[in-house]
Amino acid sequence: MSEFRDVSPELRARLALERCGFHHTHSLGQNFILDERLLGRLLDDCAVAPDDNVLEIGPGAGVMTRLIAMRAKAVLAVEIDRGLEPVLDEMLGDLDNARVLYRDFMKADVARVAGEAFGGEPYRVIANLPYYITADILLRLVNCERPPESICIMVQREAAERIMSEPGSKQWCALAANLRFYGAASVLEEVPADAFDPPPHVTSCFIRIDRQASPEVAPKDRALFLRVVNAAFAMRRKTLANNLKAAFGLDQGAAADVLERAGLDVRVRGEVLTLSELCRVADLLAESEG
Ligand code: SAM
Repeated sequence: MSEFRDVSPELRARLALERCGFHHTHSLGQNFILDERLLGRLLDDCAVAPDDNVLEIGPGAGVMTRLIAMRAKAVLAVEIDRGLEPVLDEMLGDLDNARVLYRDFMKADVARVAGEAFGGEPYRVIANLPYYITADILLRLVNCERPPESICIMVQREAAERIMSEPGSKQWCALAANLRFYGAASVLEEVPADAFDPPPHVTSCFIRIDRQASPEVAPKDRALFLRVVNAAFAMRRKTLANNLKAAFGLDQGAAADVLERAGLDVRVRGEVLTLSELCRVADLLAESEG
């Protein structure tokens, strides 16, 4: 039984980190948030409810994990750093509904991990992760076979602006298009650098993305649509025709034909297209492939 059981989760984490002589690993982006009031507010923002299954990625010292477990049905936390095991044991050892999996989430089979943890029930994701893997993690989550119902995640302010961007704007990018296909994003709260230990050099935003029951577009072939989206932004200064040629092995005539039939200028750049225009292109490619 924990020696620190009568203290707050925040103090409990601080004492556990100190007792095991924990040193933050810069290369793992270990900027922790221990402030329980802030974390409680972030969980209020994401409206964690008693029947929620929550997948937390990168629990760190586990203050957020403990607070989630106190509100939700179950939490599975996936942490890469085994050095945090004594701290997370201390933080979560007395809770029946919290479990930690020590694994690199970038290499995990998301659908399988979530399926095994929550018995096939719907789940939500909450994460404060190193910013250099956020985009990859978001893409893995939204494009996996068993996507979460919602994702609440800390991102750099610039990333939040990109994610929230509109088609045709300077920031509109493959990530924004993939996320828009999945759902609707909003900023829950801006979080200053000094909320983190150690503080990063950037301002952060806690954002929420809710999966849409019926997405903005309904492509005939989902995988092919996602290939078109990624091809459209692959080489930003090239025309969509050139990017399609490279990604789908088309000749100039075939690429121009698809664009014309989609009602688009043959010199259009992919990064100005809306999801429905990208979907028209993908559906025509699906017809010609099928
Ligand atoms: N969520 C905690 C908090 O708010 O205090 C920790 C945040 S810290 C920014 C990021 C956490 O993600 C660290 O605990 C780090 O070890 C973990 N992490 C980094 N890369 C990871 C990966 N590929 N898979 C799982 N966890 C990872």
